[in-house]
Amino acid sequence: MKQFFFDETVRHDGLGDALDENKCPCCQRVHSRQFRRFCCADCGVFVQCLECVQSRHSLSPLHRVKEWNGTFWVNTTLTKLGCVYQLGHGDHTCPRPAPTTHNMVVMDTEVIQTVNDRYCGCDKADRANNLEQLMRNGWYPATTVDPETCATFVALETFRTLNVVGNINVHNFVGAMERQTDPCQVETVPVSFLKRNQEGRLTARLQDRYKAFGRMSRQYSFLKRMKRAGRAHDNGLLASTQNGECAVLCWTCPHDGKNLPEGWRDVAPEFQFVPLINEVFHVLMFLTVVVLGSSTCCSWRWTPTSA
Ligand SMILES: [Zn+2]
Ligand SMILES: [Zn+2]
Ligand SMILES: [Zn+2]
Ligand SMILES: [Zn+2]
Repeated sequence: MKQFFFDETVRHDGLGDALDENKCPCCQRVHSRQFRRFCCADCGVFVQCLECVQSRHSLSPLHRVKEWNGTFWVNTTLTKLGCVYQLGHGDHTCPRPAPTTHNMVVMDTEVIQTVNDRYCGCDKADRANNLEQLMRNGWYPATTVDPETCATFVALETFRTLNVVGNINVHNFVGAMERQTDPCQVETVPVSFLKRNQEGRLTARLQDRYKAFGRMSRQYSFLKRMKRAGRAHDNGLLASTQNGECAVLCWTCPHDGKNLPEGWRDVAPEFQFVPLINEVFHVLMFLTVVVLGSSTCCSWRWTPTSA
C-alpha cells in the first residue's frame, strides 16, 4: 500500500493527466504541443495556459503559480507573467489609474512575494490616499511613507494565533514563510538589500522583513486589543483611553456576582474562605485543561459548550 501512496504523491511533481494533452483543460483551446503550462497551488491541481492563468488571477494577486519547464515545475510569480494589480478597486478597473506601477513585497500566510501594483488615481483616490488603499485591500503597510512592504491581515491574524497558542515567534514565522517561498532562498524570496564587501563582491543577502513583520505584528496586536476593549466606537477616539481601561479581569480572582456562589456571605465568617478556594481551584483546573490541552489532572475535559 505504501507504494500506492508514494506514487500518487510523486505524481504531483509531474504533469499527470495533462502529459500528452495540447488542449488547455480550463479554456478548452487547442495549443501547440509546446504551449506554456502553469499550475496554481491555490486554484487547484489542474493545468492552465498563459491566457487562463492571467485572466483567472486578476482578482487573486497572491496565488502561488508554477510553470512547467519541460522537465519539472518551477516557481514563478504573477508579476513575472505580466499581471498588474489595481489597488483601490479590488483589481476591478479604475477609470484613471496612477500612471506608474511599482513593486510591493507582500507577506502572505505562506509566501513572501513581489506584486506589481498600481494605485488608483480616479475620484475614488480623492477619498482614499495610498495608505488607505492598502489597508482597505487587507494589506498592512510596514511604513507610512511610500510603503514597499506589506503583510496581509490574514498573515498577521495567523501569526497572532500561532503566537498565542504555539508560542511561535516572529523569527520562526518569517523563517518558515521564506522557506515556503524558496527552500534554498537563492532566487525567489524578495531580498531587501545585498551586502557587498569593499571590492564590491556580493557577500550576503540580508533579509530585514523580519524586523518589519515584528513591528507590524506588534501594532496589529495593539489594534486588536483596543478593538476588544471596545475602543472603536468611543467618541473620544483612541487618545481618550484611560489607564486600566483595556485591562482584563483576572479569571481566578473571586468576583462577587460573577464567579462566587450565591449566598456565600451568609455562612459563618470562619468558613467564607471555602467557596473562594473552591472557585479559584476550579478556574485553575479549567485553565490547566485549556492551556495544556490535557485532561490528566481531572476527568473534566474542556469542550466548547462548557466554556
Ligand atoms: Zn486556457
Ligand atoms: Zn490561482
Ligand atoms: Zn480609481
Ligand atoms: Zn487574579
